[in-house]
Amino acid sequence: MADANIPKFKLVLVGDGGTGKTTFVKRHLSGEFEKKYIATIGVEVHPLLFTTNKGKIVFNTWDTAGQEKFGGLRDGYYIQGQCAIIMFDVTSRITYKNVPNWHRDLVRVCENIPIVLCGNKVDIKERKVKAKTITFHRKKNLQYYDISAKSNYNFEKPFLWLARKLTGEADLDFVEAPALQPPEVTVDQNLMMQYNQEMADVAAMPLPEEDDDL
Ligand code: GDP
Ligand code: MG
Repeated sequence: MADANIPKFKLVLVGDGGTGKTTFVKRHLSGEFEKKYIATIGVEVHPLLFTTNKGKIVFNTWDTAGQEKFGGLRDGYYIQGQCAIIMFDVTSRITYKNVPNWHRDLVRVCENIPIVLCGNKVDIKERKVKAKTITFHRKKNLQYYDISAKSNYNFEKPFLWLARKLTGEADLDFVEAPALQPPEVTVDQNLMMQYNQEMADVAAMPLPEEDDDL
């Protein structure tokens, strides 16, 4: 793990408070075990190790200590970020509305990095942010995934997409599942298939012409 030969990337995790960022990053057991707290900036860095068919890769994932609840984050949080996850909560419209602000703050410091947008908490039946609303990633060339941190649903998807972008290896795959906390809730597989179909249907449609930021 301390192996200097393993490629390591700084992953910046942002999004409104309460969207599940900390819950998500703590799912990965060895990352949680080896996390480091940087008191000067108030962040926890979790080294999330994945094993791929091209070798090991570590995402040094930055998680705030809750500062995002009081406005934006300091530049020190973003500086030298090599990839990012922007998270919102599919049960809270305001957290999706704030995604463009997080994106703006991020790209102001990290100009051209791969970014994944994640809609978390898809295990909750009363979903408010539906597929047809989720268009921001298409305007800005981000990847999008529905996730549920509490159930581990799609946990690896954002990391796999980022790993492929960062290495330039489109045929990179994970060859071992990382040890995760056991699921606390389960997702309804039929409902997830329905959500996937809705996303695919929307992706086939032209983007609605709205104001540029939403
Ligand atoms: P953060 O402020 O973005 O770090 O969010 P937290 O990780 O602290 O989570 C905020 C709340 O959302 C907590 O009560 C979590 O238990 C809950 N939560 C996080 N992820 C999920 C999820 O996937 N499903 C459900 N149902 N609740 C979640
Ligand atoms: Mg947190």
